[in-house]
Amino acid sequence: MNNTCVFCRILSDPKHLDHEIIWEGEKCVAMKVIHPETEGHFIVFPKLHVGEMTEMSDPGDFFELVVFLAEKFTKKWRAPAYVLKLNNNVYKLENDPMHVGHIHMHVIPKYLTGKT
Ligand SMILES: [Zn+2]
Repeated sequence: MNNTCVFCRILSDPKHLDHEIIWEGEKCVAMKVIHPETEGHFIVFPKLHVGEMTEMSDPGDFFELVVFLAEKFTKKWRAPAYVLKLNNNVYKLENDPMHVGHIHMHVIPKYLTGKT
């Protein structure tokens, strides 16, 4: 738990921000983002505060889970494709409060037409 981290605060108080947790496991959660790039855009992050990939004890398990969830939800939402974006230390480069120092993977569903 890192008191200055928005993700840690969300996990300690689910009412902290208006968000929607779509999946929760023992070690990680998946949550819709507040400003989605496309319909269904969500992020996956570990429950324990992990600042960057080199601190992650089981990166293989994390990537495996991300792909599992990306496949599960994009099939459900009939998105034929998706893009994954890993945020690793981005907050150190950009003075933007929306960039947090807690590792997370974006899953951005891609649709043929009509849906954005
Ligand atoms: Zn955190």
